[in-house]
Amino acid sequence: MQIKFYGVRGSIPTPGVDTQRYGGNTPCVLLTSQNGQRLILDSGTGIRLLGQELLADTADLVLLLSHNHWDHIQGFPFFAPAYQAERSIRIIPGNTLNGQHQAILQQMSGEFFPVAPEQLAATIRITPVIEDQWQLGDFQIQRCRLNHPGSGSAYRITADGQTLAYVTDNELFPPEQELTSRGQWLEFVEGVDVLIHDGQYLEADMPTKLGWGHSLVSQAVVLAKEAQVKKLVIFSHDPDRSDQQLDQLALQFSGQQPEVLMAREGMELWC
Ligand SMILES: [Zn+2]
Repeated sequence: MQIKFYGVRGSIPTPGVDTQRYGGNTPCVLLTSQNGQRLILDSGTGIRLLGQELLADTADLVLLLSHNHWDHIQGFPFFAPAYQAERSIRIIPGNTLNGQHQAILQQMSGEFFPVAPEQLAATIRITPVIEDQWQLGDFQIQRCRLNHPGSGSAYRITADGQTLAYVTDNELFPPEQELTSRGQWLEFVEGVDVLIHDGQYLEADMPTKLGWGHSLVSQAVVLAKEAQVKKLVIFSHDPDRSDQQLDQLALQFSGQQPEVLMAREGMELWC
C-alpha cells in the first residue's frame, strides 16, 4: 500500500514562507493498493492538488471522511473529479455525534460557495456505514470514535497484508469522559505498520487548549511505543507551527523506536 500526503495542516490552511516546506494545506491522504485501487482520506484543501492528478483517468473514487469540521471538507468544492461527468465518487462520512452526513455538500449551499452540488457533473453518493468493520475492495476497514468535539472516526485500514491507522483530530487525554479510552486506543493501533496520529500541540500549548480535541506530540509518541507500531507520522500540525519548529521536533524524536516522522505535503510512504 502506498500512502501519499496532500495536506497535513490542522484547522486552517497556512500559506507562507514559514510553512512552505511541510506545507499549509489541510488534511488529505491518498492510499493506493498494489492493484491500483485508491482510497482518499479526508477532503481538506490538499485534495485540490490530488484532484488535478486524478484527472488522468475516470476511475470510481471513494472518499472516507474522519469528520465534518471545515478543515476536513473545505477542499471538496475544488476537487476537479467532482466536475467530470464520467466520474463516480462515493463519500463515506465519519461517525459524528450529530450525524450531519450531507455537510460536505451542504457547504456548497450558495451562501458559502457559488456552485451548487446539483451542478457537479460527477455522480456523487454519500453512503454512511453502520458497521464498525467492513471491506471496501482491497481495503479492510475498522473504525472507532475520535475524542474530539462532535467526534468522528479513526480508521485502521489493511491492504496487501499491511496496516495503517489514521487517527487525526483526536485527544488522547480529554478532560471530559472520553468516547475511546486509552486502553481502546492501544488495542486499535496495536502493531500497525504506520500510525498517522494527531500531534497538533506541545506541552506549552496547555492548559489553554485542553479539551479542544487534539493531542500533544509526546502523547502520540508514547502511544506508538506502547502499541508497538512500526512507524509514527505526526499529523495535523498546528497552524502556528513553523517549518523550523517541525524540524526541531523531528530532531527531538529522531533515533527512536518506532521511527517518528513529521507529516509533510508530498511525502510518500510504502507499507
Ligand atoms: Zn476537527
